[in-house]
Order: sequence, then C-alpha cells, then structure tokens
Amino acid sequence: MVRPTAAWPLGAAMLEAQDRSHGWERESQSASRASSSRQMLEVRPGLYLGGAAAVAELDQLREAGITAVLTVDSEEPSFKSGAGVEVLRRLFVPALDKPETDLLSHLDRCVAFIAQAHVEGRAVLVHCHSGVSRSVAVVTAFMMKTEQLTFETAYENLRTVNPEAKMNEGFEWQLKLYQVMEYEVDTSSAIYKQYRLQKVTEKYPELQNLPQELFAVDPTSISQGLKDEVLYKCRKCRRSLFRSSSILDHNEGSGPIAFAHKRMTPSFILTKGSQAQCTSYFIEPVQWMESILLGVMDGQLLCPKCSAKLGSFNWYGEQCSCGRWITPAFQIHKNRVDEMKILPVLGSQTTKIQTCDI
Ligand SMILES: [Zn+2]
Ligand SMILES: [Zn+2]
Repeated sequence: MVRPTAAWPLGAAMLEAQDRSHGWERESQSASRASSSRQMLEVRPGLYLGGAAAVAELDQLREAGITAVLTVDSEEPSFKSGAGVEVLRRLFVPALDKPETDLLSHLDRCVAFIAQAHVEGRAVLVHCHSGVSRSVAVVTAFMMKTEQLTFETAYENLRTVNPEAKMNEGFEWQLKLYQVMEYEVDTSSAIYKQYRLQKVTEKYPELQNLPQELFAVDPTSISQGLKDEVLYKCRKCRRSLFRSSSILDHNEGSGPIAFAHKRMTPSFILTKGSQAQCTSYFIEPVQWMESILLGVMDGQLLCPKCSAKLGSFNWYGEQCSCGRWITPAFQIHKNRVDEMKILPVLGSQTTKIQTCDI
C-alpha cells in the first residue's frame, strides 16, 4: 500500500523509514517502505514526531512499535477501540499553537512521560495537529534535557531531521526559559513567577479577575519566617510589605541599549547581588495590592496602613533605573522600605539589618 507522499521532504522520509530492527542507523530504503509511515519521523531511537495523521491509523503505530502517544493539541484524538488501543499509554496536553499558550508549565510532565516510556521500552509518538510547532517544542525540550543541549542546538538538531519544523516564537522563548531553569520548571523561581505574570497579562487584557495563586501571601498573615529570608517593612509605619522571596531579580540594563525593550528576550534572568544601580525592587504582587491592581493598567502602590507612597505598578511594564524594562512591573522604591532579618526560631520577631539608601 502506498500512502500520499506530500507530507515530508524526501530526505526526511528516507530517514524516518529506517529499518526498525537496526535502531538509529540511516539506511536507504525502497520507496514503498518509506511510504508506510510517512506521517511520522523518528527523531531519536524510539521517539517519533508527527501530526494528526500519525494517529489516524493504529496499524501505523503498531508497525513502528509505538505504544505511547503524547498529544499536544486542542483536542484529544479518539482511538477506535480494539486493535491494541488498550495497551497504548497516552498523555493529552491541551494546547493551542499560539505564542501566548503556556507550554512551559507542562514541559516537566511531557518530558517525564517520554522518559518513562523509554524506561519501559516503549516507542513514543509526540504529535500535534500538523507536527511542526507544538510537538516540535515538546520534543526539543526532551532533547535539551536528556542530552543537556542548549535550545538552539537541540532545535537545529531536530530541524536537520525535520526541516519543516517551525515552532512559534512564544514557544521558542519558553524553551529558552526552560534552559535557564536548567530543564526543570521551578514554580517558586523568580523566572517562573515573572513568566506567569506575563502570561496572565496577555490573557487578561482587562484584568478583571486575577488568579489567586499569582499573589504572594501577605507577610502580616504569616508568623514563621523561612531561613535567611528578609522582610521588607514600610519605613514610615513599619507595616510588613513583602519578603525577599517575592523579589524578581533582573539583569541590569546598560545605558541606551537597555532602553530598547525587546519583549521576547528573557530579561529577568537571575543575577543575584548585581543590582547596585537599581533604585527599586521589582516584586511579585502581594495580597494587599489586589484591590489596587484590578481593572486598571497602571497606578501608584501605597502602603496599606499609612498610605505612604511606596512605588508604582504597570501591567505593560516599567523601566528600572538601570535601564531594564520589566513587564509587568510592581515596583517598590528601595528608600521607602526597611530590610528586616526574620529570626526563624522566634517567628514573627524581626531584627533590623543594614539598610542602604540610594
Ligand atoms: Zn534594574
Ligand atoms: Zn506605611
């Protein structure tokens, strides 16, 4: 049986048609064999990439020895019962092929699914609708993690196998963040928090309701401090405002170049202790800000107790004194707050530590 041949370039088709029993060795194959599973490409031994056509027929999966299917699409494929569908291990990650889609938050379980299948000796198919963006992003992430590759190297590598691969720019940016996070999505990291804030800003242009998990817990409602955490209080009335874990560090901008704001560049990569130039802390939103932030794009941040001006916020972003743009921005001037070391044993007691006015 010969299937339509349009989907893949010849080189890729030949590559994907390698003899299964010989693993990842490239062998020239007859055209008829190459056509048998043209909708899929074997990117790594036992790891296939494809579009919706790849799951249309179970025979094809069976021929390739695929018993695990990861779908990254808006709809879950419906497999006909019987014909081995019961042995199929499946994972469905709902995702649209749009730059604003949050794929990053799902990468860990996608990569774990593929890795687990490998451990069990299962061949895996990762597919989306057309096999060029969503599935490509997931497979690239898997290659980055398992082969410790940079985003660029992994993506280039994959595109030699599938020259049609072209993930959207939002996914490219997310995979760069994934690399910065060392291939593990740490939801408590400043990078992830900033990323989530940006995603929310894109998703809620009118900002009428914000997910609660976006807000850091009000420090006045927690008595126990974490080790080495610093508490920031209003200089005027001593009201606790935020903790050091809420600070979203960024790379210092440098002069006029930093003024050219590039939205798709991860500008907030952690550089601890290098922010001498910055006269503000950029932080995640804290619970006491909630009523101020809703329904407006920018405004002042006032102390919830004494109404002293602390700083400002802007969902479209603000520029730090060092030149760097932060989007969105919740900015507290350093000279309006005092740093207090939290004593872990004594809980709510604090000790004032050196403060530096700029
Ligand atoms: Zn700065
Ligand atoms: Zn105050």
